[in-house]
Amino acid sequence: KRKPSRRGSMADVPHDIKQEIKRLEELFTVDTAKLKGITEHFISELAKGLSKEGGSIPMNPTWCMGFPTGHETGTFLALDMGGTNLRVCEIRLPEEVGEFDIIQSKYHMPEELKTGTADELWGYIADCLQQFIEYHHEGERLDKLPLGFTFSYPATQEYIDHGILQRWTKGFDIDGVEGKDVVPPFQAAVAERNIPIRLTALINDTTGTLIASSYTDSEMKIGCIFGTGCNAAYMEECGQIPKLEHMKLDPKQPIAINCEWGAFDNEHQVLPRTQYDIIIDKDSPRPGQQSFEKMIAGLYLGELFRLVLVDLNENPNVKIFHGQDIAALKKPYSLDASFLSDIENDPYENLQETYDRFKTHLKIECARPELELIRRLCELIGTRAARLSACGVAAICKKKGYETAHVGADGSVFNKYPHFKQRGAAALAEILDWTVGRDGKPLGRGHDPVEILPAEDGSGVGAALIAALTLKRVQEGSY
Ligand code: BGC
Ligand code: MG
Repeated sequence: KRKPSRRGSMADVPHDIKQEIKRLEELFTVDTAKLKGITEHFISELAKGLSKEGGSIPMNPTWCMGFPTGHETGTFLALDMGGTNLRVCEIRLPEEVGEFDIIQSKYHMPEELKTGTADELWGYIADCLQQFIEYHHEGERLDKLPLGFTFSYPATQEYIDHGILQRWTKGFDIDGVEGKDVVPPFQAAVAERNIPIRLTALINDTTGTLIASSYTDSEMKIGCIFGTGCNAAYMEECGQIPKLEHMKLDPKQPIAINCEWGAFDNEHQVLPRTQYDIIIDKDSPRPGQQSFEKMIAGLYLGELFRLVLVDLNENPNVKIFHGQDIAALKKPYSLDASFLSDIENDPYENLQETYDRFKTHLKIECARPELELIRRLCELIGTRAARLSACGVAAICKKKGYETAHVGADGSVFNKYPHFKQRGAAALAEILDWTVGRDGKPLGRGHDPVEILPAEDGSGVGAALIAALTLKRVQEGSY
């Protein structure tokens, strides 16, 4: 194997990188006591969100009333408008719990669409739906297919087939959508193209995840997304939701709550924000929003990493990449979470992949001590994200008094970021003071009282199940 030229000893680097690593460790490490403090504050914020006065966590009632029974049937379309892709699925639910029949197509979400106009957005989505129907049902005469639309942004819902966008998240910034019901413009674009569908339910990805996972696992209590964004949903009793009191609902009636916990600590009381977190917020399209999300979601991990490195290059005491042109590294949002994943997966001995990535991608040649700092920085950013996420899960469990629970999780960070699951599980054990699992065996081997498990497809199957549950309630006259 070729030996890179600048990979020498510490002598190549005009500063004490070891000391800098130590400083970063102090900056990004969240210890057990801090995790516990954050969790306690989280619990009170969850309650505030359900109160009449409200708080910074929206705690949105979703009108998804309870878990599926397994007897949901029918054919449904599901539309998933994620941060990265647009996915259309057609799902046939079986008569009894079993295999789903599912066909799906993925469409790219062009970057320009996220900051374009509302007409472009709805037009593009409707075009994808039309393409899907034309491709899979060419020449057929269709009755209107019921559609579950997974719209993964905070929305105020008074009923399940409508939703007023509270604010864009995940870097979206399209004028004229916030503060309005998103369903009418969507339906207008669909009607304009004569697409034979009928929007039955507007859902959040976390609610879909909760419902899809509970379909096959009755211990599922929470649905989480750790992806481009970060959020959770769980089932609450109407009687525990003061802000719904005026509706005189059955106090025992369960309703899924989309927490929108990304907004946790928008008032900056407990989260250990660094100068880098502050820059991310300030330069985002929605400063002051999604404080918790900006520290943990996939959209921001690469940017955090980038900001630290640029700072260490500019810092006269450190000067990493000294004498090199770091123009490529200076481009905002040029590194995504997969860049960090690859570094964390790189065998430490050589860090060859890391070296190559920096050289080809950023035109920077790293010396061994710099590679070590880069690797440690990824570990610190990834670990902080996993540990902070655990506070949200622990807070819901404590609020609900769950001593044991399954938590269904989905999203690119959960599924692909190295060690994210183990780091999160370790933090959960620290927060909840476990030393052994519920069977008395050591933790971390599938015996933890609260386990965060890979979820079923929430935005596809989950959306179809919720659409089915909704139709059933309509038939029963419950709506
Ligand atoms: C959105 C949530 C969503 C989460 C995960 C957040 O930015 O506000 O609605 O559940 O991302 O996709
Ligand atoms: Mg998604």
